Amino acid sequence: MTQLTLESCTKTFGALTILHGIDLEIEPGEFIVFVGPSGCGKSTLLRMIAGLEEISTGVMRFDGRIVNTETPSDRGIAMVFQSYALYPHMSVRENIGFGLKLAGQPRAAIDAAVEKVAVMLQLTSYLDRLPKQLSGGQRQRVAIGRAIVRNPSVFLFDEPLSNLDAALRVATRVEIAKLHARMPGTTMIYVTHDQVEAMTLADRIVVLNGGRIEQVGKPLELYEKPANLFVARFIGSPA
Ligand code: ADP
Ligand code: MG
Repeated sequence: MTQLTLESCTKTFGALTILHGIDLEIEPGEFIVFVGPSGCGKSTLLRMIAGLEEISTGVMRFDGRIVNTETPSDRGIAMVFQSYALYPHMSVRENIGFGLKLAGQPRAAIDAAVEKVAVMLQLTSYLDRLPKQLSGGQRQRVAIGRAIVRNPSVFLFDEPLSNLDAALRVATRVEIAKLHARMPGTTMIYVTHDQVEAMTLADRIVVLNGGRIEQVGKPLELYEKPANLFVARFIGSPA
């Protein structure tokens, strides 16, 4: 069954319409990338899916149920932001486990979950360090670990690599692809303005422009059969 459905979803801020009639269906386990120029509404759309931003009109469903007014935690969604704010006074272990601690999980269960995530993200030798003792890429992996540990069914990323230098960007992108391969049932929705990231990570790409969807398709489809000139130029296909 379709996991996430948006039907004619719009977003207005005062008199400004930021998203116009968004229709989208996402299957469980897909890696979806929202791509488009700065200001086109990618973050707003992602925040609406997360439940951090109200939908102005339209219907959003999760596993068939309408979630327009559900809180982020009810939706089983976790989000990794561009600026990863870790708790500076907590170790990596405590940072990753904090959400489970808040949820009242017992110590042994938290420790086991944190270990598992640390193995997945190659953080096992850094668990007792403080964030300031880590590199930028390691910090971003901790931020990802904090989200994964809660075992979300949908994982949202908003430009997670944009604060990293070029080499780290590639390495972390590869890590995210591996992570998706290791979590086959987990849906990932990933926002970027970088076409290369979109083409290499996505099962399907959603091209946004001015608050509208221009095209949805597999990377090769967009490249070979762009729906219009905007998509062709943005994806860099020869059309
Ligand atoms: P992107 O992530 O693609 O760069 P955003 O979703 O952040 O784009 O923003 C889309 C548009 O909505 C921009 O024009 C932005 O200025 C506007 N916008 C975003 N948040 C708000 C807000 N809270 N109030 C008014 N306008 C907003
Ligand atoms: Mg944005």
